[in-house]
Amino acid sequence: MNDLGIDDLPIRDELRGKSPYGAPQLDVPVRLNTNENPYPLPEPLVERIAERVRDAARELNRYPDRDAVELRTELARYLTRTGGHPVARENVWAANGSNEVIQQLLQTFAGPGRIAMGFEPSYSMHGLISRGTGTGWISGPRGDDFTLDAAAARAAIAEHRPDVVFITSPNNPTGTAVDAGTVLALYEAAQAAKPSLVVVDEAYVEFSHRPSLLPLIEGRPNLVISRTMSKAFGAAGLRLGYLAAHPAVVDAVQLVRLPYHLSAVTQATALAALEHTDTLLGYVEQLKSERDRLVAELRAIGYEVTESDANFVQFGRFADAHAVWQQILDRGVLVRDNGVPGWLRVTAGTPEENDAFLDAVRALKKEHS
Ligand code: PMP
Repeated sequence: MNDLGIDDLPIRDELRGKSPYGAPQLDVPVRLNTNENPYPLPEPLVERIAERVRDAARELNRYPDRDAVELRTELARYLTRTGGHPVARENVWAANGSNEVIQQLLQTFAGPGRIAMGFEPSYSMHGLISRGTGTGWISGPRGDDFTLDAAAARAAIAEHRPDVVFITSPNNPTGTAVDAGTVLALYEAAQAAKPSLVVVDEAYVEFSHRPSLLPLIEGRPNLVISRTMSKAFGAAGLRLGYLAAHPAVVDAVQLVRLPYHLSAVTQATALAALEHTDTLLGYVEQLKSERDRLVAELRAIGYEVTESDANFVQFGRFADAHAVWQQILDRGVLVRDNGVPGWLRVTAGTPEENDAFLDAVRALKKEHS
């Protein structure tokens, strides 16, 4: 019984031999590996969550608001305030993390017989959720400096004619943002190949030096902006992602969403967090300056660093990145080896955590020089 493995079960052929997504969750003093926000939610917000959840608990005998009307209204208000473009509740949809948003988009616009494309290295879940929804996956090109080469990307779109195109801006794990002109060029290429959905994954946009690409949804019904409360709102444990798009896209994902997918407790907690937006965005400002400090210090130490618009920094180059990852871990700091040959990624933590990380890599550099 014990020697029965996944592959002994009658699972789908395309899942055979594959491993689940997962960064190591190790118990080390400094964890800078999953792009989380290092700041716990402020106490007044914790109190407000307790209050809102208490109210929601009184009605847990009922199913939650299936359309999350209040939450979508508040998310629309947040986007309008910060995204440089007015959006209404009808433009916004929410789900359990932006991973679920992406899954719902793929279930609606891709699936068996259709293909999705991303420009790698990028967020690996785009490919994994594609596979999970029976969608074919095409890995598109990126320049040597990890930026999106518009001409090469357009050529790949014209060749493969994908049904869904992912553009991650700022990109994970490299940190680079994509400019509006490139997104428009790719959108046009995607529409010329065949009408297809372009998903701009803006999970990290609040940390960017550049404004959001949200205004691009105007007049472009096949363009979707995907967002999350996991990073800027410091609420990875909440599981709340959302999208902004033409109302028809919001109507379309209703075809695949599970009824009552967003629990009343989730909706209550997210609404409480949105009441404290200004405090949380204050933490974002601190993290942005810590991110810029990491970039500057890593360069001063002598590492190569990719420009970052996110709450993490990609640094290298290493002959054996995994060995360096282990050596940093041996000094009590967990960073991320994303499998990009020669590079590692560190999430911006508190100033103390970043100092611990910088001390560790400084010591390593000394040992090897
Ligand atoms: N998009 C990108 C680019 C990410 O890096 C992540 C999280 N690592 C997500 C989406 C998913 O975030 P969540 O499901 O927590 O909203």
